[in-house]
Amino acid sequence: MRGTFVIPAKPLYEGKAKSVYSSENPDELIVVFRNDMTAFNGVKHDQFTDKGRLNATASEFFMRMLETEGIPTHFVRMSAPDTMVVRRLEMIPLEVIVRNIAAGSMTKKYPVDEGTVLDRPVVTIDYKDDERGDPMINDDLILVFHILNAEELTKVKEMALKVNKVLRGFFDECGITLVDFKLEFGKSAGTIYLGDEISMDSMRLWDKVTGESLDKDVYRFDKGDVITAYRNVLKRIIPDAVV
Ligand code: 5GP
Repeated sequence: MRGTFVIPAKPLYEGKAKSVYSSENPDELIVVFRNDMTAFNGVKHDQFTDKGRLNATASEFFMRMLETEGIPTHFVRMSAPDTMVVRRLEMIPLEVIVRNIAAGSMTKKYPVDEGTVLDRPVVTIDYKDDERGDPMINDDLILVFHILNAEELTKVKEMALKVNKVLRGFFDECGITLVDFKLEFGKSAGTIYLGDEISMDSMRLWDKVTGESLDKDVYRFDKGDVITAYRNVLKRIIPDAVV
């Protein structure tokens, strides 16, 4: 039982940190944010009490914010603190990453120092395929593999940059630098929606003053207590949230 739902025994899909279940409404799915935390394509794996709820709360907050800014998202409602009812989408197998500051894989692949502020936000896209290690993909490949048509690809990039504009400004007011983040999109009845999650697992966030990491890098690189960092973000973005 999750809020008003009796969760089916078996998920339709089990990701590394979320499980997706069918719902009584064929147009909706139920997403449970689990307490699992993984890094380096599942090589590192732990569980942290409350982690699912913290990420679900952040995701709900950002999806609602983006809807008010005109970005269609899959968010329908929360049915429990760690459980989100979402619109059923045909997911696009791409990880759309927006970067404002060089960090992570960008500094490994290219000769750019971590912390370099990029002249403008950069969109990079990975093909979502764990077995192949989510390789970077380009526009030509996306078109030739019929993952998206040209119009849809333009739309996805536009949406990603709009999300960046909204989130970057908001985080800045909260004393946090939005370094980079990953989005996933899906389609329903010809419309592209923002799907998946927007949480501390999928963003790189640095304290504006100290430069301290407040995201999954705390776990990836053993920088401290990841749950304390996630609570810190929630307290700053939603001052009246129960954290
Ligand atoms: P990078 O390419 O540096 O590994 O990641 C860039 C940004 O996208 C980071 O904020 C990172 O958290 C996010 N990201 C990239 N791939 C994934 C992924 O497979 N899962 C999640 N949750 N976030 C990702």
